[in-house]
Formats: sequence, C-alpha cells, structure tokens
Amino acid sequence: MNETNFGVNEEVDLTNCDREPIHIPGSIQPHGAILAIDESAMQVVQTSANAMEIIGFAPDELLGESWGKFLPAETLAYLEREILPKNLEATPLYLPPFRTVAGKDVEAIIHRFDGVLILELEENRASENESSLALYASLKATLAQLEATKSVADFCQKAAEQVREFTNFDRVMIYRFAEDDSGAVVAEARRDDLESFQGVNYPASDIPKQARALYLKSWLRFKVDNDADSVPLLPELNPKTGKPLDLSYAVLRSMSPVHTEYLRNMGVRATMSLSIIRDEKLWGLVACHHYAAPRYVAHDARMAREFLAHFLSLQMAAKEASENHEYIRHLTVRHAELVELMAQTDDFMQVLLDHDEKFLEWIKADGAAFVVKDEIRLFGKTPSTKEVGAILEWLDAHGGDEIYATDHFAADCQTADCRDTAAGVLAVRLSKKMPNFILWFRPEISQSVNWAGDPAKPVEIGEFGERLTPRKSFDLWVEEVAGKSAPWLECEIEAVGNLRRSIIEIIVRKAEVLANLNEELQRSNIELDSFAYIASHDLKEPLRGIHNFSHILIENYSADLPEDGRVKLQTLMRLTQRMESLIESLLHYSRIGRTELSKAKVDLNKVVRETLEMIESRISEKTTEIIVAENLPSVEADEVLLREVFTNLLTNAVKYNDKQIRRVEIGFNETDGRNFYVRDNGIGIAEKNHETIFRIFKRLHGRDKFGGGIGAGLTITKKIVERHGGNLWLESLPDQGTTFYFTLGAAE
Ligand code: ADP
Repeated sequence: MNETNFGVNEEVDLTNCDREPIHIPGSIQPHGAILAIDESAMQVVQTSANAMEIIGFAPDELLGESWGKFLPAETLAYLEREILPKNLEATPLYLPPFRTVAGKDVEAIIHRFDGVLILELEENRASENESSLALYASLKATLAQLEATKSVADFCQKAAEQVREFTNFDRVMIYRFAEDDSGAVVAEARRDDLESFQGVNYPASDIPKQARALYLKSWLRFKVDNDADSVPLLPELNPKTGKPLDLSYAVLRSMSPVHTEYLRNMGVRATMSLSIIRDEKLWGLVACHHYAAPRYVAHDARMAREFLAHFLSLQMAAKEASENHEYIRHLTVRHAELVELMAQTDDFMQVLLDHDEKFLEWIKADGAAFVVKDEIRLFGKTPSTKEVGAILEWLDAHGGDEIYATDHFAADCQTADCRDTAAGVLAVRLSKKMPNFILWFRPEISQSVNWAGDPAKPVEIGEFGERLTPRKSFDLWVEEVAGKSAPWLECEIEAVGNLRRSIIEIIVRKAEVLANLNEELQRSNIELDSFAYIASHDLKEPLRGIHNFSHILIENYSADLPEDGRVKLQTLMRLTQRMESLIESLLHYSRIGRTELSKAKVDLNKVVRETLEMIESRISEKTTEIIVAENLPSVEADEVLLREVFTNLLTNAVKYNDKQIRRVEIGFNETDGRNFYVRDNGIGIAEKNHETIFRIFKRLHGRDKFGGGIGAGLTITKKIVERHGGNLWLESLPDQGTTFYFTLGAAE
C-alpha cells in the first residue's frame, strides 16, 4: 500500500482493507527485481529500484532499453523461440537459470498481463535448497501419504504434516473458508514450542475480498522476509499506459502493510501460501509460517509446491465428494430404518421415542424434540420445555407448512432466544392444522469452537494496533457469529423433508385402514338394525294371533274352564302384551338407527317444558322439586327424538327415587364444549352397573319394582344421542342420586 493508492491520512485497519488495491502496490519484495516490457518495441518501461543489485544494471540504465541489454544471447533466443509464442496471459512460466550480461546469476519467471510483459528475476540460490531429485522423492512420498487418508479431516491433517515436512516451515496450517467467507484453521502442523492455532476462526474481513480474488488467480505466494522493506517501481506509472503496473500474477508482488503488520504481530518472518481451489472457488489455503529467519524458496521447490497445491485441490474435491456421499448414504439408510420401524406399529411417535439415539445421530444435531398433541418430548441438548413451547408458538405462526431451517433463529424470532442450545433450528411440521413438529437443535457455533491458544499471552503490538492479531480476529469472529449455529446442509434439509413425507404416508395409510374399519362397522350396524326390524316385525303377526286367540278363549270359553285355567289364560294374555311392548321397543330402536334425522333448530326451553307437562301425572304423586336452568340454549337436532331423550331421563329420575322430596335438576355446562345434564337425588346406580344399564332389556330390579319397565329407555336414549354425534355418560353413587350427561355433537 503506498500513499498514491491509499490515502495516507486514512487509518488502516482490517475493515477498510476491502478497498485496498493490493494488486497494484507499486512495489515488490526486495529479494528480486522486476521488469515491465512494452512488447511493441521490446522496451523496458518500468523496473524496480533494486535492479542494480539483482540484474547488475541501474534502473536508468535499463529504462527505455531493449531487454537484449541484460539478457544473454541464448536466453534471448530461447525466449523468442520457446516462450513468447506460448500463451503467457496470466500464466507465469519458469525460465532456465541464466547469468545476466552484467554477470548476476538469476532465476526468472515471465508472464503477460494487461498488455504488459512482466519479467521477474531473483538471485539464483538453488544451491541453498534441495536438489531436484530430492524434491521429487519427497513430493512422491507426500502424495502417497495423502492418497492413503480417508476423511477430509484426516486428509487436511496429513496435508499439514506433509507440507511441513516437505517445506520445513515452522508452522503449516490448513485454512478453510466458510460460506460467509470467514475462515478456520482446520488442521495444523507446527514446531512443538509454538502456540496452537488449530480451531481458530477468523472473520471474513481478515482475508479481504480482493486478496481472495488474487488467491484464486495464483496458486502460490510467499514472502521471503517480512522485515525487509519493499522496493518501489520506477517510474511509478507505466509511461505507455499511464497506469500502475498490475502485479496480480507476479510472485514478487509486495504484501499489503496491513498483512505485513499482522504477520509481524504474530512474530512471523517468512510466509508461503498455497491456494486450494475447488470447483473454481477458493476452498482454502495452505498457510506456512516461519518465525526466526527469512525463508527463500527456489524455483524448483516452488514448482513442486505449486504442483502440490494442484494435487491438494483435486484430492480435496474427491475426498469431500466421497465424505458427502457417505453422509447422504447414512441419511438414506437411517431414514429407511426409521420408516420401517414406524410402519410396524400403530404409534409411530413411540418408535421415535424408543429410538431417540438413532434419531439424534441421524441428522447431526445436539438436541431434538417431538411435539405431538401439545406433548413435548426432549432429547439431547435442548432448550427447556417452556422455551421449546415459545419456539413452537413462533413456528406455528411463521414457520410455514412443511420445513423450516435456520442457522440463526434469533434473527427470525425475537421472543425465544436460546442460543446456547438452539441457535440453529430445523423443524418439520407434520400436520397443517395441528402444531405437531419434529425439531432439531444446534448450539451457537462459537460455543462449540474454542480458541486453542493462551489468551493471556502478551502480543507485541505494531503501528496498526492491537486489532491485527489472531486473538483479536478470533474475538471479532465470535462477535460476528453471535447467535448463529453451524448451517444445516442441503442434504439434511432434504432428508427431513423425506422423513416428513414418509410419516405423512404412514399416517394416511393408517387413516385409510381406520376409515375402512369404520365403514365396515357402519355397514354391520345397519344390517343389525334391519335384522332387528325384520325379526320384530315378523314376530308381531303370530304374537297378535296368540293374543287374539287367548282373548277369544277368555271371552267365549272361560265358563267351561276351571279357575286355575282362567288364571293361566290371564297370565298368557299379560305375557303376550309384555312381549308386544318388547317387540315395539326393539322396532323403535332399530328405526332410530335406520331413519334419517330430521334436524332443525330446537328450543330446549320449550322441549323441557312440554316434556315435564307430559309426565306431570307421574310427578304429582309425591313432592317433587324440579329445577330447570334458565335460558337453555337452542340446538340443531331432531326434535321428536330429543323430546324422547328428555322423556326417558326425566321419567327415570322421578321413577328411581325413593326420597321424601324428590329433586330433579335440568341444566347445561359450557365448559369443554357444551353438555346437558339431568340430575336426581334418587337411588343411584352402583359403579359396576354404569355400563350394563345401557344394554337393551337390562333392568336392575324386579319386574314390578319402581313402577316396572322393560329396560330399553336408556339404550334408545344413548342411540339417539350418538346419532346426533354426541355422547351419553353418568355420574352416580348408590343412594346419592344420579346425573346423566349428554352432548349433541355438531355433526352426526
Ligand atoms: P327401564 O326404566 O325401563 O327399566 P331404562 O333403560 O330406562 O329402563 O333403565 C335401565 C335401568 O337403569 C333401570 O332399570 C334402572 O335400574 C336404572 N336407572 C335408570 N335411570 C336411573 C336413575 N335415574 N336412577 C337410578 N337408576 C336408574
């Protein structure tokens, strides 16, 4: 960064770094010299201030001259024959080492960019480095080691170790970019005495956008000596184009002062970084740091490392693809297992409850919750039941009909912030009408990531301040990801979508079975009703015959019979009458099952009043108090049948009552849906008979006790109530009175 490119007065920190034009720094690293050549005239138009040192000619001896001035004849010939015809655009090519006309031994690299040919020369120090053969051997060993790894994590760890072994840098980190461009050290190999950076996360601003763009362009960058001052280009602007020299692809490009400062604050002297590129995107970096001394990497070794970066990129893509494939397979297999278990039972929720572990490790989540019919079951690390309740309330209103996924729930819902357990929420809604859900939770990401280093360790702060240290970067990152969880993967969202479909299929299938059963039940009920009808109808005729003949016998022949015979005939008559009423009841019962209800709005006040008038004769025998609730509601019902319900219940209330003062109360409750009741203070019914009294022709007393009866009233009453879609039940204790309750459902 120099004054022309970036205002001097503007304070430099990592937040305005995004605007720093790092591809045109106007200077280079001092261990090499650069020449910008105008191809039309093959003339040097710009060079670096240190040209004398590296090339043996001062800048003013080179500027405006042909490159033949310093290139030896055979290099010049080689360049013209082999190199210039090739595509050099943004593609630096290495040249064989040579000695300049002024007698300097150099290594060179050449490329073309933005219409300018750029030649970079560095002092040839090949003798200080490994031989090509040794390089080849260690590269081969490295590749073999890397190929043998299975998971991405393993691969990264091995890559860090191998690169360190191969390059001898003090620290090698594999740095990975996240979707949001923040980064993390996912693997590290380091000198034993160094503090670990493993697991450290950095905000996106630490590697600004344009730096990432440059990393995508060139595979390898290094800084030989962070302490050495950079060397300016002369002149500052290209006289032919009037522009600063674009050093995007130049290896000698000087680094931004901000980055230099960052490295200095970490005590780093030399760095090298390799890009890991996947699907044309920057996946990450291999970042190498050296502490004590500058570190020069000769061209041979550099080529080997560039090759290594290519290899890492390809392998990373392959390893990631296979790991992803493995996870998708796991999701599918587990899904099939769960569905099979669920299909086997009636209560699929129970299956999920019984196999919660299987369920939790299915989708990588820390906690889960099942919510069915207001019941909340929690597994693993989750918010409290109350907090989950608040989450559900929000989801019910805003979470959509099917799937809701977020890695930052607090951003969507302000009312339920439980970031320590549920910063991320993945929810599947099982029913549109009811808030039935399956939920998965992930905690805030920064809570699961720890700074591995010693926060108390003092750092030396340079001129750009404390901000430029990894510790501060980490803090900033923690601030940026506050309230966020690790993101839900597309394959996970798809998997829970599939689970939802499976569960709904199972529910629908079960509902179909139930519907079939219901239909069958209804059919057999109808059949039973018609059987009862036909049977009783056909019985009536012969009964009438028996009755008539008995009558004739009594009328015409009783004089011829002894007294005993006459009594028996009378009994026969009575029995036929009783049988007739039994048959009538049965007919009536079957008719209620078979005929259409004729529903209309019915005023219950009127029905009760008229019913009471009708049974008044029976009431007046003893003192009877009748209390009717005021303003009984109107209901949608079959009036004739409803009248029968009240007649039966009220008759019984008076009939089965031996108290001095009989008390009968008619009323209704609006709680939990509406119900009506008829309460008496009569003889009561023992608990064991609470069901039997509804059986047809079942009486609890001798034939003539309590005014007789045939035991069909309650059976018929129950049927009427049920045909209205309601229920009939009772509360009663012997001698304490009885209350019959009933509802009249909205629909039949
Ligand atoms: P019935 O009154 O003709 O016997 P029901 O079907 O109306 O037939 O009643 C069945 C039996 O239930 C009765 O015989 C009686 O024992 C009992 N029961 C019905 N209502 C009452 C009541 N309010 N108090 C006590 N017992 C009752």
